Amino acid sequence: MEKWTYTEGLHEVGNGTFAYLQPYRKVSGADKLSAWGWSNAGLVVDGQGNDAQTLLVDTLYDIPLTQKMHNTMIQAVPAAAHIDIVANTHSNGDHTNGNMLFKESKIIASLATVEEMKAEPDPSVMAMIAEKAPADGLTGMTLKPFNFRGIQKTYATETFDSVKTFSLGSKTITLMKVGPAHTKGDTLVFVPEDKVCYTGDIIFNQAHPIIWAGPVQSWIQACDTILAQDVNIIVPGHGPIAGREVVSEIKDYLGYIYDEAKQRHDAGMTPLEAANDISLERYASWLDDERIIPNVFAVYRELDGTPVENVHKLFDYMDAWTRARRK
Ligand SMILES: [Zn+2]
Repeated sequence: MEKWTYTEGLHEVGNGTFAYLQPYRKVSGADKLSAWGWSNAGLVVDGQGNDAQTLLVDTLYDIPLTQKMHNTMIQAVPAAAHIDIVANTHSNGDHTNGNMLFKESKIIASLATVEEMKAEPDPSVMAMIAEKAPADGLTGMTLKPFNFRGIQKTYATETFDSVKTFSLGSKTITLMKVGPAHTKGDTLVFVPEDKVCYTGDIIFNQAHPIIWAGPVQSWIQACDTILAQDVNIIVPGHGPIAGREVVSEIKDYLGYIYDEAKQRHDAGMTPLEAANDISLERYASWLDDERIIPNVFAVYRELDGTPVENVHKLFDYMDAWTRARRK
């Protein structure tokens, strides 16, 4: 298995198939690296000159970062100046906020992803939250590195329900909706010729995944869907490029969190008590362990059939968690 470097920029993972990586970084006020907002994207190019066809997998959290990525892509692959198709893996802003730079392109996403994007707060609201948040709190630390001003939500121009296959030059591209898992509309992007899968946030590498939607079982099935395909290069939504083993790691993590949370649920603990009680020792090297909180809440919600918690409340809990551990 080839080892990929983990540096910012474009990395060729197949024949005209690339990953654009934004490595985890230290944010001001924090003493450790964070995965929040530092997402990866992908580029697939097939054909030469005027015949070249281009696919961009996801955009980034803000316009300057997306513009920088696009410039890097054009420098390496001139055909990327014209992006024919953008495919969004899911609704979160760190994978869609840059869509507005590609209004001339066909933008494809699952129907559930578009519905979710419509329900999510406008980036201008995120800008206000980012400005008001204390710099030493989790919200401030995760939002302040980004510029949410001037972002117009730009939705898919074409949607699909479960699977969509299309040609990009001589390559076949398959989009497979596997959500609800991380979000409702999670979609995997396969490039079978190169044995590559862009997973969006179904896979985080070296960081805790975060269960916004669930159920956990459906996310575990999404991992099995990847493992059932003949792919050996995994471009995760966040973190270094990896082999198939990273998919098994996330699958194991989800099973572990589910079992541990269920035991404590059945013993009558509150979600916060459970989150504090579950040992994360085996994941000590993974970033953003505060995500255990929304993850435990997600399991409780699944067991109790209760509605999704207020996201600001979850951030408050996670903020308290990180502050308590910093002292
Ligand atoms: Zn993400």
